[in-house]
Amino acid sequence: MITRTQIQVHGLVQGVGFRPFVFSLARRRALHGKVCNNEAGVLIDVEGDPRAIEQFVAEIRLQPPPLSAIEAIVLNDLLPPLNFKEFSISDSQTKGAKAVPIAADVATCEDCLRELFDPNDRRYRYPFINCTNCGPRFTIVEGVPYDRAQTTMREFEMCADCRAEYEDPSNRRFHAEPTACPVCGPQMLLRSERGVAKRDAIERAQELLLRGMIVAIKGLGGFHLACDALNHVVVERLRQKKYREDKPFALMADSIETIDKYCKVSQAEKSLLASPQRPIVLLNKRASVKLSEKIAPGVKTLGFMLPYMPLHHLLVANIHQPLVMTSGNVSDEPICYCDDDADERLHKIADYYLTHDRRIHMRADDSVVRAFRERPYLQRRSRGYAPAPIKTSFKFSKQILACGAELKNTFCLTRGQHAFVSQHIGDLENLETLRSYAECIDHYRWLFDLRPEVIVHDLHPEYLSTKYALASDEIETKLGVQHHHAHIASCLADNLVEGEVIGVAMDGLGFGTDGRLWGGEFFVADFNDAERIAHLDYVPMPGAASAVREPWRMAAIYLHRALGDEFACLELPFVRALSLNKWTTLRAMAASGTNSPETSSMGRLFDAVAAVLGLRVSVNYEGQAAIELETLADEKYLGSYELPVEDGGVIKAEPMIERLVGDLLNGCSPSEVSTKFHRAIVKLISTVACQTRSCRGLNRVALSGGVFQNMFLLQEVCGLLELQGFEVLTHSRVPTNDGGISLGQAAVANARLRSGRI
Ligand code: ZN
Ligand code: ZN
Ligand code: FE
Repeated sequence: MITRTQIQVHGLVQGVGFRPFVFSLARRRALHGKVCNNEAGVLIDVEGDPRAIEQFVAEIRLQPPPLSAIEAIVLNDLLPPLNFKEFSISDSQTKGAKAVPIAADVATCEDCLRELFDPNDRRYRYPFINCTNCGPRFTIVEGVPYDRAQTTMREFEMCADCRAEYEDPSNRRFHAEPTACPVCGPQMLLRSERGVAKRDAIERAQELLLRGMIVAIKGLGGFHLACDALNHVVVERLRQKKYREDKPFALMADSIETIDKYCKVSQAEKSLLASPQRPIVLLNKRASVKLSEKIAPGVKTLGFMLPYMPLHHLLVANIHQPLVMTSGNVSDEPICYCDDDADERLHKIADYYLTHDRRIHMRADDSVVRAFRERPYLQRRSRGYAPAPIKTSFKFSKQILACGAELKNTFCLTRGQHAFVSQHIGDLENLETLRSYAECIDHYRWLFDLRPEVIVHDLHPEYLSTKYALASDEIETKLGVQHHHAHIASCLADNLVEGEVIGVAMDGLGFGTDGRLWGGEFFVADFNDAERIAHLDYVPMPGAASAVREPWRMAAIYLHRALGDEFACLELPFVRALSLNKWTTLRAMAASGTNSPETSSMGRLFDAVAAVLGLRVSVNYEGQAAIELETLADEKYLGSYELPVEDGGVIKAEPMIERLVGDLLNGCSPSEVSTKFHRAIVKLISTVACQTRSCRGLNRVALSGGVFQNMFLLQEVCGLLELQGFEVLTHSRVPTNDGGISLGQAAVANARLRSGRI
């Protein structure tokens, strides 16, 4: 008996080798019919023995191509047979809504690598080798549906050999849209002020790097600035030219073996390093590393990545040592991704350019991730991850545009059960980044055919993302969502959890519903609401933004509150170094409230403690003081300070500051003090969680906010809470920092739509 079944496969199934996979499966089972891409994914029409069809469907479900992500398979077997004579791949059907996700860029696969280093292969050492299982995607896509004419590869006409592979359903390059070879595809070139070289561009660049040169390298989502990581002089020179004093540089090495010489690498970290996303993985430094101290000053981790483009594989081949591969920009600006732009902005930094003629359409920074309990813990979700949608446990009832926060901005667009969280945009603090933000929103809307009806923003009136939302005259329904409510909602959505939780938001700064700057908050929260049940006591932040850059200000304020004017007589290095003039001015500012917003931020308390310990009086990148304080913490010390919760949920830090000063005067090491400070926060979180459990009957705790990038704190908090029987939710698919805010904003907006509040 012959029956016919139509199979609609939903999910990420285009541009990932799905059709050739279905093709060979059908051939093997002697089934006839056809397969094509359509708006919903892949549509298969198949005829044959019903048992064989059943097995065919099971196999699609169980062993789909590695890069695909099936969300649903819908079967229809009520159709009359058409008597297909064979199985074929037919052209795409494209009409109606474009609902198909575009894949993220994928690291070079094993098969392509083998060919890359095979002298008998026609793509031997060809830096743009790729196939259906790997290569550029999102960064070269200009429009939909996904095919070559809609990518920047349309500028290269395929040669006869490439065309034959592209049209052969049994070939790994069947419909590999960016496929190319040395005859027909993009080419590398090495450029300096003295001229241009095309031959052996990569080999020569490698030589130059090892001779101490800085080379700007055009990659997948933008330019890198590269140099020899073992050469102190060039690393120092790169820091000066990039105006980047201390913020760690990322490194690239040829293999895990090389990385292992510098860092301890766990199994989970190895799989993150080698994953198709190839993020920068933050790893713990080995005690005796022979790297320039200037790579990551004051930090106990190094950010390593493995090569992810064929060009990188060729560049690091055979040198078995790390290269600095930092983003191609001047401090705080978005990374360069066009040649003209790179010429203009990088010419004062780079000695040479290693570039190519494949255009990058969408900028995407490298992603940054840690391993936490065998799971990825993202710090920056970008190249390799975006624009793959974040699946939610609920369905968005309307399309929403969530504009995100200001620092580490991402935005988010929604449809159905998908939240399209953008790649990392950066800090929305200058016009250049704002322009890139607006363009990127337009691109996503066009690419995924989205027409949001609701626009969501932070409550901070000065964020450029808020201003962008309020200025939109196209979307009338607008909603402001409190920053830390968005953090907690983001953690819930990240974990596919709904319902009320104990929300712990430990953060830098976020605008509160009372107009003050929050950041050390406890909530009972769900997607709809966040009821604030406890928070750090407000302290003035004299100088506002200056207080963030200069932790000594918060230190002086906290010392004064804890010890009164006497504090100025303390025999502490911090106090002795404090200028009386500066302190007098600061105190007057705080007392009169001039440019001194009040804050309950945990991030600022970290700053204060770091400065009291003498770690630093000012920072040159966000979170620097807190990171250095974490570096000092050591689990070998027992003991803890206390952060008692008063009636009304106010948490006062002064008694802790007083004890901490006493310890320092008694000769306690900064390392021990830092550890006891971290523990005080651990105990505080556990105390509030236990109280809330007994009066509200809640057993789930969600941890979110930038402070939870602190792994010492995170580990200890999770450990204690779990010991006490709590279910603890931490981030995994979006960052715990402000990069996750947009997802939370969208989730809150959706809940309010549902409950009829907007
Ligand atoms: Zn490949
Ligand atoms: Zn070719
Ligand atoms: Fe935040």
